Amino acid sequence: MTPVLELQGLQTSFVTPKSTIHALSDLSLRVGRGEILGLVGESGSGKSLTGFSINRLISPPGRVTHGEVRLHGQNILTLPEKEMRRLRGRKIAMIFQDPMMTLNPVLRIGNQIRDALLAHETLNAPEVRARAIAALDEVGIPAPEERLTAYPHQLSGGMRQRVAIAIALLHEPDLIIADEPTTALDVTIQGQILALVQRLCRERGTALVWISHDLAVVAGLADRIAVMYAGRIVEEGPVDDILDTPAHPYTRGLIASVPVPGRRGGRLQQIPGRMPALTDLPPGCAFAPRCAVATPACAEMPALGALRPNRAVRCHHPLIEGAAP
Ligand code: ADP
Ligand code: MG
Repeated sequence: MTPVLELQGLQTSFVTPKSTIHALSDLSLRVGRGEILGLVGESGSGKSLTGFSINRLISPPGRVTHGEVRLHGQNILTLPEKEMRRLRGRKIAMIFQDPMMTLNPVLRIGNQIRDALLAHETLNAPEVRARAIAALDEVGIPAPEERLTAYPHQLSGGMRQRVAIAIALLHEPDLIIADEPTTALDVTIQGQILALVQRLCRERGTALVWISHDLAVVAGLADRIAVMYAGRIVEEGPVDDILDTPAHPYTRGLIASVPVPGRRGGRLQQIPGRMPALTDLPPGCAFAPRCAVATPACAEMPALGALRPNRAVRCHHPLIEGAAP
């Protein structure tokens, strides 16, 4: 079946007269209908740029310099901007860490929902009101009628994020890119919002890309995970499979650094060193300088190779059996 989203060899670069930085390289991914893909990696690994590249929202001097972004099989990178605007918000929606990226501070909630609805649909005033109330109700906002006249600053952070999610869901998009939408919230609220988005996507068959630096968040939410490091995917596969048998030394390091409930007092292992700047990447595997199993072979960039059906890893020395050399 044609996936909802397919990235094929995507490269996003910042090109100035002085330098060219490849911030994303050789990025390939598929997300099917109703599937949740967790995109994880530490800060600066290129997760947000991936979301912006999919939406064609990279600002100069950045641009997509290679590859394809296919939505239901169609490469949307070649669409005229006018058609792309019709897709944004209707077929592809984004949820950001800061809900104020979506919300306008000087407009009442009801008016913002109205504007978002009328951008893609023709509705009369009572229809707009009914849809707005239903949308707020669906994301668990109490007394939705009363919220219509509120301004964003009159709501808590968690409620503001729910409103942003309600707006993202308005047109029942085929794809949602959620960029760390719960990172700024309390743990309890985080959990509620995760469960909410997961349920709504399952019910509607929405494909969801959930971006997070936190492997623990993604572990409880996603069907598959893709691990990013220095602008590339280093490992990809079903969530349980990867958590049980990580093949990339970086993925294993990430898992070892996550606190496990019940394992109190156990030492967490941190990966030594830090991710190199994109301006300062070593030749070959970018993780090699921090890697316990690196050899001279790692000075050559490994390809993202199939480990077995459904599992891929970019490593010359993967940690599990059956791995491609
Ligand atoms: P993440 O969301 O994983 O924390 P980002 O996608 O925001 O990471 O950024 C990835 C990298 O892209 C950054 O570390 C930075 O080096 C590079 N980058 C982002 N914006 C620019 C820019 N305007 N010019 C040059 N490099 C940039
Ligand atoms: Mg980010």
